[in-house]
Amino acid sequence: MVYDCLIVGAGWAGCVLAERLANELNQKVLLVECRTHIAGNAYDAVDQHGIIVQRYGPHVFHTSAKHIWDYVSRFTTWNGYVHRVLAQLTDKTVSLPISLDTMERLYGRPFTAEQFRDFLEQRRVPVETIANARDVVISQVGWELYELFYENYTRKQWGLSPEELAPEVTRRLPVRFDRDTRYFDDPYQGVPEDGFTSLFERMIDSPNITLRLRTDYQSVAGSERFGRLVYTGPIDEYFDCVYGRLPYRSVTFRFETFERERFQAVGVVNYPGEQDYTRITEFKHLTLQRHPKTTICYEYGAAEGPPCYPVPTEANRRLYERYSARAEALDGVHFVGRLAQYEYLNMDQVVDRALLVFEEIRTRG
Ligand code: FAD
Ligand code: UDP
Repeated sequence: MVYDCLIVGAGWAGCVLAERLANELNQKVLLVECRTHIAGNAYDAVDQHGIIVQRYGPHVFHTSAKHIWDYVSRFTTWNGYVHRVLAQLTDKTVSLPISLDTMERLYGRPFTAEQFRDFLEQRRVPVETIANARDVVISQVGWELYELFYENYTRKQWGLSPEELAPEVTRRLPVRFDRDTRYFDDPYQGVPEDGFTSLFERMIDSPNITLRLRTDYQSVAGSERFGRLVYTGPIDEYFDCVYGRLPYRSVTFRFETFERERFQAVGVVNYPGEQDYTRITEFKHLTLQRHPKTTICYEYGAAEGPPCYPVPTEANRRLYERYSARAEALDGVHFVGRLAQYEYLNMDQVVDRALLVFEEIRTRG
């Protein structure tokens, strides 16, 4: 059989493109995935206690783009979950991102937006050119809040100090002058009513798509015949790491189940202190599942393991650009997604990238 397209990786990037090519252009697609399951890092499943868990940590879909929400909503309904995160400090639990609520709990006195602005005005550190993830924070909130919320957490997550990371890392977290305690302020957010994996199953349910799990790209590259290639794995591996390995940060997950209904007040609690884990997720908050038991998951930043995050440093960006230049010189090969584009992309951004690549294929052939 000759396939119109070989797609490597059955995460968001790979499955969106498989769906579009199969359903819109009636193309025959071979979708290979080296893991034992689809859905990439968004994969969820029922554990041995009957609790729905997300195997690669907490995933909440959120976007401000209606066209992305509408597209993804073709394959699922949503459970209405709104993501809230607390930070566990030594003697207090406060909400994140930092808002008026956080400040009031932290300092035990009322804060208006104006008082919070004055407070920050006295503490923020003037930084002429924001060069790294630490500058972003100290120039907004000063040293005290930086040390309390960001310094340790970032070291644990990345194995690097915030000074070594690009500004985009800590820019992900806003500072709020209101009482909005949602983690994301996007108008569209939630978890698929029957899980991410079911969403993906529906997305790639087409006679035009042949899915092969436990199949690495290397094992089909030479033997299968195909026209176009969509590659969503780590870009350095595609080029046999000829310029050296691009670092990807991994995460280790430790699951624990308790014989009680609730473990913590919200879905995710961050630990910016001395603990060796970064955060604890209690999945029942995210999935709205009712069950007499509950499963939680501790997260630890890890140097080894499946690639989860590109590591945004200046040196890595330059190394990526060498690979990206080689990628651009190829004809009929598309690199899409977090690992292939070496960018700290959320799920909605990956969907957007995949839809853009599809439009390019549709219009240019
Ligand atoms: P992946 O999901 O990584 O899919 C790539 C797939 O390719 C993988 O399944 C991999 O096994 C496969 N593959 C790689 N190489 C090969 C090969 N050689 N042969 C065959 N298959 C291969 N985003 C949000 O929007 N909201 C969140 O709440 C959120 N939380 C997150 C929490 C954690 C802990 C992590 C790690 C990420 C989170 N993300 C979140 C980001 C989200 O996981 C990614 O944006 C998204 O999964 C990227 O999709 P992708 O298709 O690019 O990559
Ligand atoms: N961050 C932090 N403390 C926190 C939460 C986030 O220092 O309590 C920093 C950290 O560097 C992290 C970045 O902000 O990597 C982005 O946080 P986000 O919650 O978006 O991380 P993700 O969900 O992608 O792991």
